[in-house]
Amino acid sequence: MPQLSNRVMTFTDSVIRRMTRISDEYGAINLSQGFPDWDPPTEITDALAEVAKEGPHQYSITFGATNFREAICRIESERFGRTVDPKSEIVITCGSTEAMMTCMMTVCNPGDKVVIFSPFYENYGADTILSGADPIFVPLTPPSFTFDKAELEAACSQPGVKALILCNPSNPCGKVFKRDELEFIASLAKKYDFYVVTDEVYEYITFDDNEHICVASLPGMFERTLTCNSLSKTYSITGWRLGYVIGNAEAIEAARKVHDFLTVGAAAPIQEAACRALNVLGPDYYADLKAKYQSKRDIFLNGLDELGIEHTNPEGTYFVLIDITKFLQLDQFKGMSDMDFCEWMIKNTGVAAVPGSSFFREPINHLVRLHFAREDETLYESIRRLSKMADLLK
Ligand code: GLN
Repeated sequence: MPQLSNRVMTFTDSVIRRMTRISDEYGAINLSQGFPDWDPPTEITDALAEVAKEGPHQYSITFGATNFREAICRIESERFGRTVDPKSEIVITCGSTEAMMTCMMTVCNPGDKVVIFSPFYENYGADTILSGADPIFVPLTPPSFTFDKAELEAACSQPGVKALILCNPSNPCGKVFKRDELEFIASLAKKYDFYVVTDEVYEYITFDDNEHICVASLPGMFERTLTCNSLSKTYSITGWRLGYVIGNAEAIEAARKVHDFLTVGAAAPIQEAACRALNVLGPDYYADLKAKYQSKRDIFLNGLDELGIEHTNPEGTYFVLIDITKFLQLDQFKGMSDMDFCEWMIKNTGVAAVPGSSFFREPINHLVRLHFAREDETLYESIRRLSKMADLLK
């Protein structure tokens, strides 16, 4: 058989998506791959039913249907603090997964370098490799997942750095970057002349007084930021695969070419249905979403506290990392990897999680990621199931 490309030998399948498959096999509660288990708002499902009858059912414009681009730009202009032009500054993609890949292919030449914070959402590693670039990792240090300014500057000042990937709010650590941190990143982007490519899919899921700030809204940053986002998390439609990139007209013109040859376009009826809903959902919708996730975070983290399971305190996103160090010290788990532990969890507690090692550059074996985008009863049931595990420490 002819040999496959070298590139496909250098990364594995997604551990997050693999855990979902194992979870399904054992009928576990899936707290691994992050997606909600409730229906999207009725404005969205009703629009989908209408569009099924009315169309469109043929291709939309490759870079996104005009009315859909206009609807997104109307909402995003407010967040960006400037008018985002639907004609030239946005490309609609198949989810933010394609958005990020498109950005990497648009910005990077083979051999360029991309700065990525660790822990990171695993797609960024593969995206970087697929675009021919090499990642440079900079640690975010727990418990508040701050970065060392000198270390970040040392990474960003290396020759060939073309982009920094910024996930904000950050999966899996739940960090919401503060204004002064973003200003520092922005100053480096200007000083060393690179793009900031962001993943802002959790922009509406922030807790307490943590506020999400678009780095593109900082002075002089629109020109050097490519903002990736999606409708998946905000409207609970992860299966619709609708995302977008916003950026300066020149970069977006190039990104539209990449996108066109990768996918031609996002599904036309899905864009139309989402557009109809976006035009009727008001500010209350976003406030309710935030309140809903805040309450879920409280339910789940209080549950973990009652079980005595140590965990991170997310400022945003719907992820929490639990510390399994004490479990790994027990005889029955000695020598286990975090992956072995997650498999044990699925089989013995009926709760699926993601091994932390798939998010870290550093050799980490003591963290496991769970998400809390589940109906309240399911969260309570998960805590009940995890109590079996917690009892082992008593
Ligand atoms: N972002 C989600 C997670 O980290 C999943 C997204 C995906 O699988 N495409 O679990």
